[in-house]
Amino acid sequence: VTATIIDGKVIARDMREHLKSRVQALGEHGVTPPHLRIIVSSDDADQTLYAGRLRKTGEALGIEVEVENISETLTDERLAGEIQEVNRDPRVDGVIVTMPLPRELSADTVYSLLDPAKDVDGVTVANAGRLYLGQAAHPPSTASAIMDLIHSVAANVRGMNAVVVGRSAIVGKPTWLLLMREGATVTECHTGTTDLGHHTRQADILVSAAGRPKLITADMIKPGAIVIDAGINETDGGITGDVDFPGVSDTASAITPVPGGVGPVTNVVLLREVVLNAESRARAV
Ligand code: NDP
Repeated sequence: VTATIIDGKVIARDMREHLKSRVQALGEHGVTPPHLRIIVSSDDADQTLYAGRLRKTGEALGIEVEVENISETLTDERLAGEIQEVNRDPRVDGVIVTMPLPRELSADTVYSLLDPAKDVDGVTVANAGRLYLGQAAHPPSTASAIMDLIHSVAANVRGMNAVVVGRSAIVGKPTWLLLMREGATVTECHTGTTDLGHHTRQADILVSAAGRPKLITADMIKPGAIVIDAGINETDGGITGDVDFPGVSDTASAITPVPGGVGPVTNVVLLREVVLNAESRARAV
């Protein structure tokens, strides 16, 4: 391995320490703690696990995290009612509705009804639109985390060639927009792309968010590139990313491991948006 390993765990730990002091400062000024509401929409074990982890991380920072599981009684009307209630509740700084919703429910209820100011994971139509228009927005947390990881090795991406593999609304597309906003020249690749390697070999920054193990191999990397692997794939050999790590880490200048790269930073970035909202609330009074 010749590349610098971008250690998401260390970056996340530093971010947590910084956030903790911001939350403390709010308390010292008599401001009520940042408050995150997590609406768990399905009885899927992964969603409960995710909510529990986020609560633990948040509470360790002094953030109030309230987890509400409404999966048993969930209808579109109930979900809409819950969202309207949290929109109105002045204590609530941020809201997450765990996804995917049960099949019979429409995610549009969340995307269109949730107050964009409280949409700390950037899933609403309003936040996506704001991001597109270059206005202040809460971006999806994974895309923000990817930018933080890039910035840990390249403070300024202006003029760089970036390639993003994957065009989902929560990872690929917002990452494309954030990179472009900062002045990178961005190529967006997907399953319709002919000769993926032709594009990735031009990349000073390569972000893979495809969910395909070993999609990105050493011959597809420009020597010295920064490689961010957002993929999470369950394989017989355990959790891996999209990048063939042993080969690529000999060609790249910096690379994120999986696990231990994008994942740990994502949750902290989400909590950072909650704290940011609490700071705005404090300024408004
Ligand atoms: P989606 O399945 O929604 O999107 C995958 C994207 O990758 C699609 O745009 C698809 O193209 C593209 N793609 C798939 N295969 C190829 C291929 N062979 N060549 C080029 N493009 C391809 O996934 P998500 O965006 O939700 O997630 C992507 C990965 O990131 C997953 O592994 C997921 O687990 C992980 N993830 C990690 C997070 C974290 O670290 N915190 C958070 C969220 C996701 P097309 O549109 O043409 O189908």
